[in-house]
Amino acid sequence: MARCIVVANQKGGVGKTTTAVNLAAALAVMEKKTLLIDCDPQANASSGLGIYPESVAENLYSILYEPEKVWDAVYDTSLPYLNVLPSTSDLVAADIELVDKQGRENFLRKVVAELGEKYDFILLDCPPSLGLVTLNALCAATELLVPLQCEYYALEGVAQLLKTFELVRKRFNTGLHLLGVVMTMYDGRNKLNRHVKREIRKCFPKHHFETLIPRNVRVSEAPSHGQSVIDYDVKSKGAEAYLGLAKEVLCRVPV
Ligand code: ADP
Ligand code: MG
Repeated sequence: MARCIVVANQKGGVGKTTTAVNLAAALAVMEKKTLLIDCDPQANASSGLGIYPESVAENLYSILYEPEKVWDAVYDTSLPYLNVLPSTSDLVAADIELVDKQGRENFLRKVVAELGEKYDFILLDCPPSLGLVTLNALCAATELLVPLQCEYYALEGVAQLLKTFELVRKRFNTGLHLLGVVMTMYDGRNKLNRHVKREIRKCFPKHHFETLIPRNVRVSEAPSHGQSVIDYDVKSKGAEAYLGLAKEVLCRVPV
């Protein structure tokens, strides 16, 4: 069964999608069979790997209503070990439509259970909220990865996320563990970044990744080419960092 990693932080713009895409690509080049499930209606993880919502027939929203079609919603990417299950803007409605469904938190769990046997890793890219779709992702996963930007308010909101994590563990998914926090868009020349990095390491002594993802222009350019940074410029600092993060993920058993 796949290790299923949910990439979540209800704050927007902290590097969730960038981390989900590039960690997935890094694991794939290490020959781990990897599936990225895009759980955000913005569909940036899908387009970031060259799968454009308007050009595919099935997506996470369509299989909500036709779960028997789940394998039809899995698409190939330019990397042989990497598949994507794309999203679409329709997924906005899921947060509301799922509300009065029985077992509303278990929809994604069933999808992951069905697909999980074929993969080493399934990554879930979450929207910037703690709504029903994110709850579904937390219920489906075995591990939580939290991207944090080393800015002043980085830890604000994390308490809320960790509370939700504990609640999900207690009520819905005892198999969920904290994999760790990863610091994104890091600039070592910036004093505040260095200070917040120390705070985050103090706050998560056992659960931070040593790999720092630097702010890197190649990382920000790659999605407009429909590529991960590993494809786009494997020699860049950004690619190097995500490959380092993947190595740490492979070594780390979450507790
Ligand atoms: P989220 O999914 O949490 O909303 P994104 O991954 O979309 O955040 O990142 C927000 C913005 O920051 C995007 O424009 C992205 O290209 C940029 N970005 C993310 N990580 C990096 C990085 N390491 N270097 C440069 N730009 C980055
Ligand atoms: Mg995103």
